[in-house]
Amino acid sequence: MSSVDEFGLIQRFFQQQPIYPQRGVILGIGDDAAVCAVPASQHLAVAIDTLVAGVHFPKNTRAYDIGYKTLAVNLSDMAAMGATPAWFTLALTCPTADTQWLTDFSQGLFALAQQYQINLIGGDTTRGALTISIQIAGFVPRTQALTRSGAQVGDGIYVTGSLGDAGLGLQLFKQNQIDTPEKNHCIARLNRPTPQVAVGQALRTIANSAIDISDGLAADLNHILTASKVGADLNLSQLPLSSALTSLLNRQHALQLALHAGDDYELCFTVPSDKQAALKIALQGQRYCQIGTITAQRGLRCYDENQQLVHLSASGYQHF
Ligand code: ADP
Ligand code: MG
Repeated sequence: MSSVDEFGLIQRFFQQQPIYPQRGVILGIGDDAAVCAVPASQHLAVAIDTLVAGVHFPKNTRAYDIGYKTLAVNLSDMAAMGATPAWFTLALTCPTADTQWLTDFSQGLFALAQQYQINLIGGDTTRGALTISIQIAGFVPRTQALTRSGAQVGDGIYVTGSLGDAGLGLQLFKQNQIDTPEKNHCIARLNRPTPQVAVGQALRTIANSAIDISDGLAADLNHILTASKVGADLNLSQLPLSSALTSLLNRQHALQLALHAGDDYELCFTVPSDKQAALKIALQGQRYCQIGTITAQRGLRCYDENQQLVHLSASGYQHF
């Protein structure tokens, strides 16, 4: 957008934030670039994620939730790296300068930004089909970033929270059924995912590998397996399923979503056996559980409660 409105819009909706001084922002919105300091003992972890209307969220998603979710999925990438979020930039493409939409969008965005004490330090605003990109940066102590490539044979495989809720939430959001607490739980998991930032930080010196679950457990765990050149045995009976999911679906369908549906933004990580006591202490009060073991035999195998091998049909969401 090149109209005068653009600057008024940026000022009104994106520049009115409290400054969180501890994150090293020296110069924020308003110049040609922002300027930030990185503490000497830290590395900078940088990620970007784009949400396209109709692709990454249904077109009738509320503006508040779009703002919230775009930042949440980026915070989730920081969590997966064990990084402490520091600041973010926003590239916003929208069809019109709808002030009500922008008010709601920025409220959702800044509700989460405030929770993590991170500032929006710049961005770009253009006219076009609704598309939102957020680039985020975080600090991680040198050499302590969690990666996908560090899994070792014998590591326990863990996930936080519960799986499949957001996948069911998407189906329910598209239908027009009456509200129930279970339905609302799943839709909230879809629209306002909770990034596992505290867990990621706590895992820094404990986990051998980590990834956040955006495309489904099977697909994302496979990224760890490929990067680490290992395989995995999963116990389906250990997959964490919410009571909402199990009350709305039969077991087969619930497991299918837990394995293959995206958008949960939980963490999947691996921990060697000699760090399991440390893990217990580090994640005290957090919801997590072991779901399997890293193996030398490549590939991903799933076992049912009778230790019978189960064939995996579908895979996680793929864009191309
Ligand atoms: P330039 O023309 O130098 O690229 P712009 O006119 O695009 O700068 O932006 C002016 C200022 O507003 C810059 O500091 C930029 O980072 C910021 N900005 C633009 N759009 C956004 C946005 N959607 N959110 C936050 N800051 C933005
Ligand atoms: Mg410029």
